[in-house]
Amino acid sequence: MDKLKQRIVEEGVVVSNQVLKLDGLLNHQVDPQLTMEMGKEFAKRFRDAGVTRVVTVESSGISVAFATAYELGVPLLFARRKKTLLAEPDMLCERVPSFTKGIVTDILISREFISADDKILFIDDIIANGDAARGLIKIIERSGAELVGVGIVVEKSFQPGGKAIRDQGIRLETLAQIESLEGGKITFAD
Ligand code: 5GP
Repeated sequence: MDKLKQRIVEEGVVVSNQVLKLDGLLNHQVDPQLTMEMGKEFAKRFRDAGVTRVVTVESSGISVAFATAYELGVPLLFARRKKTLLAEPDMLCERVPSFTKGIVTDILISREFISADDKILFIDDIIANGDAARGLIKIIERSGAELVGVGIVVEKSFQPGGKAIRDQGIRLETLAQIESLEGGKITFAD
């Protein structure tokens, strides 16, 4: 998505060879117009997949997941993050390391809002090592629902998350693929 790539170049801050700060458009401030366009693009790509629910993980995935769910006319469900887990039998839970915070959190989804009849589209902001996606995919599997695809705004393709998902045979669509952040420069794969 050219407009997104242009904004990444203009506003992205390369923090290290591994981390790109996108606070101006994704992780702190949200641009409603650009976000709705990203939602339209994901909805276009997954329109034929019979999606019944869009799922994301709080908090940075919510805006684009909302836009996608709006375009597809289905509910948006966001997994909650918690640091500790008390026994919650009604919740499906997975423990995932956080790439940016360096801590481990539990992500939880209530069984009330996901069932074996669902066809799920998982949407998220950025994929790095793929831990958040892996956790969410496990939760979807345990719910009995079908995962019809994954849509990620920014794939850092020099990290292994995106490839790992594709290698599982899961359809992964991304709007911008970053090949490298070496030398403080953002280089796109496409
Ligand atoms: P993963 O679980 O794939 O390793 O990391 C995914 C999550 O970590 C994303 O949802 C995102 O919020 C955060 N993250 C990973 N890499 C970056 C990055 O380079 N910049 C920012 N701002 N967040 C990142």
